[in-house]
Amino acid sequence: MPAGGADVALSIPAAVLELMDRLRANGQQAYVVGGSLRDRLLDRTPIDWDLTTDARPERLLELFPQARYENAFGTVQVDLVEITTFRSDHEYADFRRPHHVEFGDRVELDLARRDFTVNAMAWGGAPGEPSHLVDPFGGRRDTERRLLRAVGDPSTRFGEDALRMLRAARLAAVLEFTVEPATRAALASSAHLAGHLSGERIVAELGKLLDAPRPSIGLRILADAGLLAAIAPPLDAQRGVAQNKIPGEDLWDHVVRSVDATAAAGRRRTVRWAALVHDIGKPVTAADGHFYGHDVVGAELAGDLLRGWHAPRETIDEVTHLVRQHMFAYDDAWSDGAVRRFIAKVRPERLDDLFALREADSLGSGIPADAGALTTLRNRVAAELAANVALDLRGLSIDGDDLIRELGLAPGPAIGRVLHALLERVMNEPDINRPATLLALARELAATMSDSAATSTGRPAPGRSREAG
Ligand code: ATP
Ligand code: MG
Repeated sequence: MPAGGADVALSIPAAVLELMDRLRANGQQAYVVGGSLRDRLLDRTPIDWDLTTDARPERLLELFPQARYENAFGTVQVDLVEITTFRSDHEYADFRRPHHVEFGDRVELDLARRDFTVNAMAWGGAPGEPSHLVDPFGGRRDTERRLLRAVGDPSTRFGEDALRMLRAARLAAVLEFTVEPATRAALASSAHLAGHLSGERIVAELGKLLDAPRPSIGLRILADAGLLAAIAPPLDAQRGVAQNKIPGEDLWDHVVRSVDATAAAGRRRTVRWAALVHDIGKPVTAADGHFYGHDVVGAELAGDLLRGWHAPRETIDEVTHLVRQHMFAYDDAWSDGAVRRFIAKVRPERLDDLFALREADSLGSGIPADAGALTTLRNRVAAELAANVALDLRGLSIDGDDLIRELGLAPGPAIGRVLHALLERVMNEPDINRPATLLALARELAATMSDSAATSTGRPAPGRSREAG
């Protein structure tokens, strides 16, 4: 780990050092602060760079004409760096009075408002001073010990802002830290406050947590502290539900293992979300060791949870679809038509995610990733996709206009019915997907349909009894 002085400077981008020099040459203090400094001390690449200074926003705008005001809290954006004026927060226990921010002149006060000791260090100085580490809360030592410790009294800090508790779980997972015991105890005693958090903030923190190399670290913290029960009761309900998968492990253990498997495989966030909620339908469908229909119920519950949090629309669509489809049961008796219908139902662009989810589900059940002949199914799917077979109406060699023109059908729902019937046939026999063949078939189908439509008006339909059932 770099030491407090020159080594830190070496690891800070020149553009950031230049901004600091510029501030100090103009009589202002300047420090790298927060997550970016923490990440550098851990030899990680920071997502962004944060500076803090005694310069007020107006002064910053004078010094940096290219700067943009970010918000009313004194954050100014210069290129990719956020510069925040030293501030202290005043929060009120009754939650009613407005959150109030005061600018300050000392970096120590700014550090005291920050959440965890590892996030409450600064590196820099006043004009003319050599750059140095300001570490009033022992953040450096906690960084070395990989400990997450609240600044000040943990219960007070979580009471001021319940999001800090989710940040604890998220940071523990992302940084692979443990939560220091007093901070951990306060997570448990203040967990209920997380019930007041907005869905958007929950989704943002859980999303970052899921991006961690081992999300289980954070998920376990959430569950064990009672935070999961506060923010997501249907997920918490999975704890203690018996499963005969890995001996001694329950449904929640299975879910957590599955999520870790998606992370170990480097899957995208959507697949990690899907792994987190894939069995959310099990607690309510559990009966005699079975969970009939948990995919259908689970897709609904997952949708309710994510919609309630105002998750992005695309995330909701993709995740609920994956949950709905995750119980496919392949065997070698599947016809080629069955493989094509599977592709059509899952949709080609979502197959990779579904297979990734199944791999994680299997690993989370203590069986090999490719259990259930998954590799065979994958190969068969790949072969079908390579053959460019029709999977939806757009893949047919004729369309509704052809039916109107060639068969004289009237525009209306009958056209759709004929096309769907053709698609059914083509999925079983791709070779018939030629205009002449399909038009001939369509002619027959249209005749049958008008006959059966006629049946409902009382006229007998020839041959209908033979085909019934
Ligand atoms: P990352 O940027 O890697 O997601 P971070 O710790 O930098 O993690 P940010 O949201 O960028 O998180 O916040 C920057 C800094 O602001 C933090 O390091 C911390 O010092 C402080 N901070 C952020 N959120 C809070 C909060 N809810 N309460 C107190 N301090 C906070
Ligand atoms: Mg940050």
